[in-house]
Amino acid sequence: MNQVTYKGLTFVPYIGRDQIEKRVIEIASQIAEDCRGKVPLIICVLNGAAPFATDLFMNLGIDAEIAFVRLKSYEGMGSTGAVKELVGLSEDITGRTVVVVEDIVDTGRTMSKLMKDLRQKGAESVRLATLLHKPDALICKDVNPDYIGFEIPTKFIIGYGLDLDGLARNLKDIYVLSDQA
Ligand code: IMP
Ligand code: MG
Repeated sequence: MNQVTYKGLTFVPYIGRDQIEKRVIEIASQIAEDCRGKVPLIICVLNGAAPFATDLFMNLGIDAEIAFVRLKSYEGMGSTGAVKELVGLSEDITGRTVVVVEDIVDTGRTMSKLMKDLRQKGAESVRLATLLHKPDALICKDVNPDYIGFEIPTKFIIGYGLDLDGLARNLKDIYVLSDQA
């Protein structure tokens, strides 16, 4: 793996695809076990969680459904502080076992808002799976992910769904800004 450059910024390898794949399979089997006897609804938070959510979904090995919402809180390399809902949920989730799948929890604002909204819509349970978690950046302390792929320090990363202004989502590995490596 080599370094990559986007918008004049250099990023270096941080988490390799083999490690990601291994954690995805582990988390998928935990979710399948915790949802035994139910048909969970996996809610993918677009755009960033698309690769993680679909890989997780394909590895569940139990009957499950998938749905998508689109939220946005980041511009460039920082949180704007406001969470915009660009596409909402059309499914009825009353009584459903819901697992929200997110790429990364940073300040927690995005997940705090979404988890509250989903609980108000009458789901039986709402769990949160995030590929990455930056615990030192967490502001909304009500956000407690049930499944975490990797805990990382407060650094800016890209790849496997994570972007810099829309770019780099299709890198198969995760990279960190070289100044922060
Ligand atoms: P939060 O609402 O501050 O927790 O931000 C979560 C959202 O910000 C994630 O869904 C990502 O889209 C984005 N984000 C947070 N940290 C990073 C990062 O290091 N790289 C790319 N996107 C990030
Ligand atoms: Mg996201």
